[in-house]
Amino acid sequence: MAEQRRDADGDEARAWDELVATARRTVADGLVVGTSGNVSVRVGDTVLVTPSGVPYDRLTPADVTGVDLAGRQVLGTLVPTSELPMHLAVYRTTGARAIVHTHAVHATAVSTLVTELPAIHYMTGALGGPVRVAPYAPYGTPELAAHVLRALDGRSGCLLRNHGTLTHGDTLDRAYDRTAQLEWMCRVWLTASSVPGLSPSLLSEAELAEAGERLRGYGQR
Ligand code: 13P
Ligand code: ZN
Repeated sequence: MAEQRRDADGDEARAWDELVATARRTVADGLVVGTSGNVSVRVGDTVLVTPSGVPYDRLTPADVTGVDLAGRQVLGTLVPTSELPMHLAVYRTTGARAIVHTHAVHATAVSTLVTELPAIHYMTGALGGPVRVAPYAPYGTPELAAHVLRALDGRSGCLLRNHGTLTHGDTLDRAYDRTAQLEWMCRVWLTASSVPGLSPSLLSEAELAEAGERLRGYGQR
């Protein structure tokens, strides 16, 4: 109901700019085509989301779209992403502050072949362990949201069978980077698996655990 809507505050306006930049990056980097995929960021108990079916290059600061954790629209008039149930389920049950969902080519291809991405590279550790594939359910449904939640247990990303990817993080940059790394790993696995007569070596649980530990200290202090 329109009377429950309000104007974005300063934090929300800044978060919206970052969200739009991240959504545009998914297109620029080839992780989605057109208006596929969606991005969200949590500011307090408000979740800013990309509107459904609107090209990201058309979004302006005046288009801020936000809902509360129950899914009631509190900001804007554009219809929120159809994947709202999935985004809200993740915010309600994890500490996520940002979510990126894409239809990245290699990741989507892998989602049709296996139930878990084989541990082809130590960056598996950056997602919390071997990346699971959530069973198929139609886009935008609570069933898909439930499958995704189960696939995410202990992980910061998963694949959605015959659909795409979802990753989360404490910032939009971190969530985005996990999607890019996941897509890259899927590409490596597909490339290595497509050599006739050979199959790729995989990392053991112990090797992955060690990589995960080292990655916690990766980068600048
Ligand atoms: P929206 O445009 O509604 O966000 O839908 C895109 C999508 O990826 C659905 O899974
Ligand atoms: Zn999708």
